[in-house]
Amino acid sequence: MLNGSYSSSLVLISLCVAILASYTALDLTGRIATAKGRAAYLWMVGGALALGTGIWSMHFIGMLAFSLPIELGYDLSLTALSLVISVLSSGFALWLVSQPSLPGRVLALGALIMGAGISSMHYTGMAAMQMQPGIDYDPLLFAASLLIAVGASVAALWIAFRLRRNTPYVRQIRGGAAVVMGIAIVGMHYTGMAAANFADGSFCGALDGGLSGSGLDYLVLITTLAVLAVALLTSVLDARLEARTAELAQSLTLANQELTQLALHDTLTGLPNRSLLTDRIEQAIAKVAEQGGCFALMFIDLDGFKPVNDAFGHHTGDQLLKEVAMRLRGHLHSQDTLARIGGDEFVLLVELDEPEDAVGVAAKQVNLVSRPFRVAEQSLQISASVGIVLYPGNGADQMELLRNADAAMYHAKSAGKNAYSFFDVSMNSNARLQLQLLQDLRMALEQRQLRLFYQPKFDAVGRQPIGAEALLRWEHPQHGMLLPDRFIQLAEKTGLIIPIGEWVLDEACRQMRSWMDQGYENWRVAVNLSAIQFCHAGLVDSVASALQRHRLPANSLTLEITETTAMHDADASLMVLQRLSDMGVDLSIDDFGTGYSSLMYLKRLPANELKIDRGFVRDLEQDSDDAAIVSAIVALGQALGLRIVAEGVETDRQQDFLTRLGCDSLQGYLLGQPLPAERFMADIERLAVGQA
Ligand code: C2E
Ligand code: CA
Ligand code: CA
Repeated sequence: MLNGSYSSSLVLISLCVAILASYTALDLTGRIATAKGRAAYLWMVGGALALGTGIWSMHFIGMLAFSLPIELGYDLSLTALSLVISVLSSGFALWLVSQPSLPGRVLALGALIMGAGISSMHYTGMAAMQMQPGIDYDPLLFAASLLIAVGASVAALWIAFRLRRNTPYVRQIRGGAAVVMGIAIVGMHYTGMAAANFADGSFCGALDGGLSGSGLDYLVLITTLAVLAVALLTSVLDARLEARTAELAQSLTLANQELTQLALHDTLTGLPNRSLLTDRIEQAIAKVAEQGGCFALMFIDLDGFKPVNDAFGHHTGDQLLKEVAMRLRGHLHSQDTLARIGGDEFVLLVELDEPEDAVGVAAKQVNLVSRPFRVAEQSLQISASVGIVLYPGNGADQMELLRNADAAMYHAKSAGKNAYSFFDVSMNSNARLQLQLLQDLRMALEQRQLRLFYQPKFDAVGRQPIGAEALLRWEHPQHGMLLPDRFIQLAEKTGLIIPIGEWVLDEACRQMRSWMDQGYENWRVAVNLSAIQFCHAGLVDSVASALQRHRLPANSLTLEITETTAMHDADASLMVLQRLSDMGVDLSIDDFGTGYSSLMYLKRLPANELKIDRGFVRDLEQDSDDAAIVSAIVALGQALGLRIVAEGVETDRQQDFLTRLGCDSLQGYLLGQPLPAERFMADIERLAVGQA
């Protein structure tokens, strides 16, 4: 028998190659597991080439490490076949461990196939030596080598499958596993080698035309190392890239979440905003359709928020809104939605067991807001008006529900605030009309649809005209001539009253100029101011410039402000009134007797005239109380040195009575209706002719 010997350095190298190949294989399974689609197949093919070459070259270097007293060579085609077998087995192994699961039976079968592959690679490689006579294998060792091949495959497949996901320390664990796998593969190889007995006088049939000679080991080693290195490097770089991509994707998800939060929530209070609310209402509607039940939608509008904002500043206003949101939110169930959809507008969506339960919820909300808030060292008192719709019943979709809830809220507000009100069909048409009217009103000024009518004022005793009150009319293209009660509130609510008011002031002054030019130098024209105009910073300047533009003495203009307006925010009003009075403008307190005035305050007002509200005049004859009030007002006015005007005079008896009580001037349908300037003048002239 020929005695073989091993080159220890090549044995060591073959072990290193086996470990390196194992490590590469484990790393590649990780790649295949996380890659998708075509990339996974590319990795599998590349991996099979790298791993197959690795295992094969370990085996081939192991063969080169072995030497016999005779010269050895390797048949090219058989050697190539062993390489192909190695690559195919590796490909099979990689495919197997990249499957979603690896049950025991599959693992066993896979290991059998893979073990068979490795063994056939090995023994094909041995056959490439084409020994004559043939190699005599020791059956026991041969069997042992097959067993080791299958055992190593079980271990390799199982480890590779377990380690394919990226977990902490996966590289270290893979390193350890690679050493175990490498030793197993090498063990199989050398067991197989040990099984081989070469008979004395054997010679190598592959010497002619086969692979042989020194340097073969280095060639194989270097090629293998290059292949493995490229595979490993690509894998590591790709893993890095993947990790970076994953990181980027993660931060993108976070950013997206933040954006959604921003897009769906109100930044001040953190409550859901209108778009999220819309969504929730639609969900609630769908739920009712599926499972029955009902829900209520409550439109909550704060009363008196604007004055707080104006008086204490936006910062305090914002704080107050936050407090309101917190208090309301605090008393709700988690499935209910409280949204903020506008400055001081909130909407509450509540699921109900019974429609009647809405009353309790609404009453609670109203009550919660009416308790004082402590904000920035101030105790602030506001209230809420709540409009309620029920679903099913008060609307088909979220838009209609919200619109109707809004209409109901306006109803609650106009009915005195600090209350709730259930929706009723009559409110709906109202709300819709209002909306249309508002859109029309925005165009009214530029389309010159506004007119001033003039109602004469007469001296009570002499019965001479002493001027007129300018009353606003809107010639609406569809609705005809509209009276102020149809649109002034709307104009005030939207701020349109400012430009409209300026137009009124200018137009009335222009008319007054014309009357003066016609010889009525002692007349005064009276213009009504709303509270909003009165609070507007530009008022004094507007008045001054209107007077200047039409070359009017300030004294020919009377400004009428209601008692309530004058008393509200007394100190600020006082300042504005004082400046107007200093200019010489005539000031009249309108609707006197309807508000709540303090005598002390009245005394300080620089007013020139008191206008007794027509409500007292109307009931003068029936109601002795009203007669008493009117005479008290007259006495009070006289004591304060104010002119007294009575408006709404409709009958001769009223006229006589008011004159007797001591009113200075009178105004009313009896004496003259509000009319456009031309007809007004015609009436006055007719009167003058009649008297003459
Ligand atoms: P007001 O200042 O109290 O104006 C008097 C209102 O009483 C006018 O109604 C007038 O037509 C009506 N009236 C006059 N005589 C009689 C009468 O004998 N009997 C009855 N029952 N009513 C009489 P109008 O024109 O509808 O104005 C209503 C309110 O609209 C005014 O009340 C005033 O507060 C406001 N307003 C009118 N024009 C303007 C304006 O240019 N600017 C502002 N801010 N408000 C205006
Ligand atoms: Ca008036
Ligand atoms: Ca009045």
